[in-house]
Amino acid sequence: MNDIRLFIDGEFSNGSAGAPFDDVNPATGQVHARVHKASREDVDAAVQAARRALSGPWGKMSGRERRALMFRIADEIDRRRDDFMRAEIADTGKPAALAGSIDIPRGAANFRAFADLCDHPSESYSTPTPDGRGAINTVVRSPKGVISVICPWNLPLLLMTWKVAPALATGNTVVVKPSEETPATATLLGEVMNEVGVPAGVYNVIHGFGPADAGQFLVQHEGVDAITFTGESRTGSAIMKDAASRLKPISFELGGKNPSLVFADCDLDAAVAGTVRSVFANCGQVCLCSERVYVERSVFDEFTDRLVDATRGLVLGDPHGPDTNTGPLISAEHQKKVLSYFELAQQEGAEVRTGGQKAELPGAFGQGFFVEPTIWTGLPDTARTVREEIFGPCCHIAPFDDEDEVVARANDTDYGLCAAVWTRDVSRAYRVPQALDVGIVWVNDWFLRDLRTPFGGTKTSGIGREGGKYSLEFYTELKNICIKL
Ligand code: NAD
Repeated sequence: MNDIRLFIDGEFSNGSAGAPFDDVNPATGQVHARVHKASREDVDAAVQAARRALSGPWGKMSGRERRALMFRIADEIDRRRDDFMRAEIADTGKPAALAGSIDIPRGAANFRAFADLCDHPSESYSTPTPDGRGAINTVVRSPKGVISVICPWNLPLLLMTWKVAPALATGNTVVVKPSEETPATATLLGEVMNEVGVPAGVYNVIHGFGPADAGQFLVQHEGVDAITFTGESRTGSAIMKDAASRLKPISFELGGKNPSLVFADCDLDAAVAGTVRSVFANCGQVCLCSERVYVERSVFDEFTDRLVDATRGLVLGDPHGPDTNTGPLISAEHQKKVLSYFELAQQEGAEVRTGGQKAELPGAFGQGFFVEPTIWTGLPDTARTVREEIFGPCCHIAPFDDEDEVVARANDTDYGLCAAVWTRDVSRAYRVPQALDVGIVWVNDWFLRDLRTPFGGTKTSGIGREGGKYSLEFYTELKNICIKL
């Protein structure tokens, strides 16, 4: 049995919170590791270590030296790709093809992409003064300090490094609280940090749950200077309350109920293939997944039939199976939640076009948390199934008649993370995205990412933007220095 430990001040430890908890492989339902939990004292030790590191060798390092370290971290993740793959697949049950093409390479890529922030430019202004001698105003950025990084389970390494990389590039130190469901790769990254020579205390990992546990202890700790969080909108709200007492800066990437708009003038082959991805990637457990698909009435039947056919071709099961492209849900609890929406959809009057049940798999995967990829039609926009984030392999497809109508329906939600638009009309490709109240719009694609662009959502989908130079806003503090000449 594998032990997953805390990583504090460059050392692994079992912590002082008592008995470890089980880490379950969602593809088999079997326990594959024991996770050591952080007590309040362990969280304090991690925050203290992170604070000390700010004034140690790390704090004195030049941008150029940090940049070299960022590349060494990325190279070491690549070198240990198989270890990271094993850990991520055991924690999530996701297909090896997905972990090998997205999770692990993107985990390494984040360190390379954000290395550019190590040497950010400063601004300078020459200011006239009445005595004629003038002044120089220089705008500098310094690290915020100790950043707490609280992560979800759906893309564990990728989403964690998306925050850790810019935090380190800009000279901060971090205390990471990975999801209790997926603690393995954050822990493995501790080994990488030691191997490449990141000073002790710069990167710390604590394990445990959220409320009244490691997550909340970390958020409430007065030694934390800022909090970056990815997860559910209602968790964001709880964290915001805890952050409020000391007015800590926050950056939130939260939930979604993302629309996909399919216009009759689109390339239907591309729209069907793209929507299969946007609905079912990672078993629907990507914050960017489409759960509401709106299709122009003249192509509604054809699109729906073709999407149903393609969905029936998805292969569930053994993550290492050569054809497997769809994994399980993350946990028995999440499976229960998604199945409750499958039931709700039927109570609300949905027509189940495919799926709608727990998936029965043979052998070792019979105890895994699989559900059938599911498509519904026939619900009104007011149905809970069409309004609430389900975070599973499912979508509702509804017809629409004109552009203004579909934009209004797409915007009629508490969320505002992203949208996909399928059209060959260049004017519409420019007009519709501007009318959508979301942070990211893909036209004729989905999840095509350039890491230099801002990422984040409007309304209850998030606060702030991260990505490229936009990450500077959260991870650094601006200071103006005015020198009278
Ligand atoms: P979650 O909110 O349940 O948990 C996320 C993390 O927060 C976990 O580490 C958990 O232990 C911790 N946590 C929970 N309560 C806490 C508290 N009171 N104080 C401190 N920490 C606390 O989310 P999840 O189920 O892990 O992830 C799924 C959700 O994440 C979905 O809603 C999805 O849309 C969202 N998500 C958003 C993005 C994005 O970029 N916008 C990306 C991925 C996932």
